[in-house]
Amino acid sequence: MHANVLILGGGIIGTSLAAALATRGVKDVVVVDLDLAGVYASSELNAGGARATWWHPVNIETCSATLRFFAEHSERFGFRKSGYLWLYDDAGLYAKAMSVQELQNRHGLGVESLAPTDAASRFPLLDRNLSELVGATFSPSDGLVNPNAVRAYYREQAECGGVRFCNRHYVAGVRTERVTGRGGSQRRVAEVDVVAVAKGDVADSAGQIRSVLTQHRVPRDEGTEDVTLSCDSVVNCLGAWSALFSAKVGVPDMTEPVRRQISLVDVHSKDWPEAQERSGLGMVVDASGLYFHPEGPHILAGYSTPNEAPGFDFEYDGDEFFQEQVWPRLAHRASAFEACGHVRGWAGLYAVTPDCSGIAGAVPGFSNLYEAHSFTGRGVMQSFAVGRALAALVTTGRYDEFDLGPLTRTRFGAPERWVQEELHI
Ligand SMILES: Cc1cc2nc3c(=O)[nH]c(=O)nc-3n(C[C@H](O)[C@H](O)[C@H](O)COP(=O)(O)OP(=O)(O)OC[C@H]3O[C@@H](n4cnc5c(N)ncnc54)[C@H](O)[C@@H]3O)c2cc1C
Repeated sequence: MHANVLILGGGIIGTSLAAALATRGVKDVVVVDLDLAGVYASSELNAGGARATWWHPVNIETCSATLRFFAEHSERFGFRKSGYLWLYDDAGLYAKAMSVQELQNRHGLGVESLAPTDAASRFPLLDRNLSELVGATFSPSDGLVNPNAVRAYYREQAECGGVRFCNRHYVAGVRTERVTGRGGSQRRVAEVDVVAVAKGDVADSAGQIRSVLTQHRVPRDEGTEDVTLSCDSVVNCLGAWSALFSAKVGVPDMTEPVRRQISLVDVHSKDWPEAQERSGLGMVVDASGLYFHPEGPHILAGYSTPNEAPGFDFEYDGDEFFQEQVWPRLAHRASAFEACGHVRGWAGLYAVTPDCSGIAGAVPGFSNLYEAHSFTGRGVMQSFAVGRALAALVTTGRYDEFDLGPLTRTRFGAPERWVQEELHI
């Protein structure tokens, strides 16, 4: 099989890129994924928060555009502009948040700063220990979205434009050409390397990816068949697994997979649905690091355990996590949560970079390898603009509508070019 553009990974980023390429009329686009249902994909395991209130223009602009896109399809995506309320008990951090407010509001985000008493009177559900806070911010244009509905939409758009999605294809290796010199105006290809992604030697990075090797698990059959997909361009959209691919084509990666856990909480009160309606609450990021928002009849609450070791860990700590990390923080802030109960929960992976911003662009050393991954806790809310930007880069060699230049991996060589985001949950 041959692909004009071969996208590795059919999470929300790979699928958005596929849709954007289809919109541009690009033919022979193929997406490969070992599991398009996304049982372990971050795109299926996240919290559905969508905000543009970041600290760097590239993140603000791409998220703002994605939120506008969500708003255009609000019914289909279950998008609610219910705002983000952020509570602070650290004066230094609050001062930093204040210092970026002007930038955020220049982008039309309308962020307000609130005294703790204002936050209490505006959101009466939050009735405990507000005096320990130094301040709060409320960003009314942020909100909540159903990420599965967004990904399904991107896929539908992509398939309408002829994109092929290949399920149960495990990306196992690549074939590259190593260029050792130039003969006249011709590049001389000296050697062809085949490397396994999971094991084997590192490929030479000074070249071109000719094909990608996958192991295709045949439904209702034993074992796998090897498939070679030749391609003109390749895009690494493997999320938390992207570094495994990068490493094997000789590209050092800084991304680490880090577990994040979420609990669904039952508010044991027959008044809860009305109380929730009255509360006007969207996403709340508590000073303790816990974030929560209404989710159907429940509360969805997430907390990132400090010093969580990197690794491909999908184990949810269950009652222990709820009892020790979630419930005490909820009950500390709202008496309505005093008697809440644990429904269930899950764990997924953040793909974390040193500055907590994503990696996107052309991969140095290759003429036809691109990447868009490691969007930490921002992949859903950035997905539309990232897909559009990468589609422009891959097809024309430059960005147009959105410039993801600041997200290139070369920034890590110069700390002053890092896109450091500190309010990261
Ligand atoms: C608990 C949690 C909460 C989050 N909350 C939010 C939030 O509120 N808002 C937000 O915007 N973001 C949030 N995120 C982050 C967001 O989910 C991710 O940034 C986004 O989903 C990343 O999408 P992706 O397409 O890059 O990766 P993924 O969705 O992980 O997709 C990668 C794909 O690659 C495939 N793959 C991996 N290895 C191989 C291989 N060798 N061969 C073939 N296929 C392979 C996988 O099967 C997967 O489908 C959260 C994440 C978690 C875990």
